[in-house]
Amino acid sequence: MQSLSGVVNGTEGLRTQNLSHILTMVHRSGPLSRAELTRRSGFNRSTVGALVSALVEKGLARETEPAMGGRVGRPSPIVQANPDVAVIAVNPDIDALTVGVVGLGGRVHERARRETGRLPTLDNAVQLTRAIVADMTPALDRLDRIVGVGIALPGLVNAGSGRVLIAPHLGWRNADLTGPFETALGLPSVAANDASLGSLAESIFGAALGVGHAVYLNGSASGIGGGVVAGGTQLVGSRGYGGELGHTLVSPGGSPCHCGRSGCLDAEVRLERLLDAAGLQGGGIEALEGVLSDDPGPAVRREAERQLELLAVALVNFVNIFDPELIVLGGFLGSLFGFHGDQLGDAVNARALAGGVTVRRATLGPELLLVGAAELAFRPLLASPS
Ligand SMILES: [Zn+2]
Repeated sequence: MQSLSGVVNGTEGLRTQNLSHILTMVHRSGPLSRAELTRRSGFNRSTVGALVSALVEKGLARETEPAMGGRVGRPSPIVQANPDVAVIAVNPDIDALTVGVVGLGGRVHERARRETGRLPTLDNAVQLTRAIVADMTPALDRLDRIVGVGIALPGLVNAGSGRVLIAPHLGWRNADLTGPFETALGLPSVAANDASLGSLAESIFGAALGVGHAVYLNGSASGIGGGVVAGGTQLVGSRGYGGELGHTLVSPGGSPCHCGRSGCLDAEVRLERLLDAAGLQGGGIEALEGVLSDDPGPAVRREAERQLELLAVALVNFVNIFDPELIVLGGFLGSLFGFHGDQLGDAVNARALAGGVTVRRATLGPELLLVGAAELAFRPLLASPS
């Protein structure tokens, strides 16, 4: 026989699950009418009404009356996740540290990128984050609540422990990553690989929205990482280290890679090589965009075409292995795609065993990794809004 407390826990558990379902829906879809929520959730009208009221009471959702149209009858109120419930998103990289404040619904309230000039240590990154967050105080004060910190790191992060196993380009190894951020900011912190988080963000808010089978590849100053969505689920591997698509061999005997091999995609297709060809030092992806949007000159064109050719080699492998509907390119790979995207898509489809794959640029732009890191930090709240 089930005990009374068991019944209570069961009912509470179910209610939490239902609140989670509704909050996640408005967080991901944007504002929805109550009628649409009822249709999509499969709950009845009064249940949706009660759940929405509970979320409004907790400050997690807002409800507004829609503008009166010409239709007969009472219009259905519009429900929106409260964008003023936010998290702090952090993306350390070899050339700069970016910090964002991201609200429910994927709204980026603030974004600040600070060039570091030299490789930041983990401690440098924590202190710089604290300084940037302090500068954002007026904006943070206008929000209702900050619930956590999400960190997108170019490296292998253990999903369970929050430790970085190795971030090769930053030189961070086997260290507690989330602990120092928790101490410095006084907020629960979570971390994952940057490209996996980019993939997550694109699948929820961007180019891969609603796509069940997608390969995502991100190019940052550090290098190339990836993410694979198969059957609607992100492949993470047994310890969270999966999706290191940058270490695919594309040029036997090519440039040495930090992983110990030679000719990896990560070693051959690099942002700094493109910037070097343009005679630029630093400036990141935004500088490259500027170069490629105009006539970039023969040196940059040659290097961009060499990199696009090697990128095609890697993408053909991924199409043959994962059979995605869609490939999304983010970071500087998106810039390369913007330069000669049609040729890349044609080359991949001509060489893969089964073509018909769409290659597209990530749509979230410079906010991509911040939105992904925020999504990770929002998980506990979305799973248990009560
Ligand atoms: Zn490698």
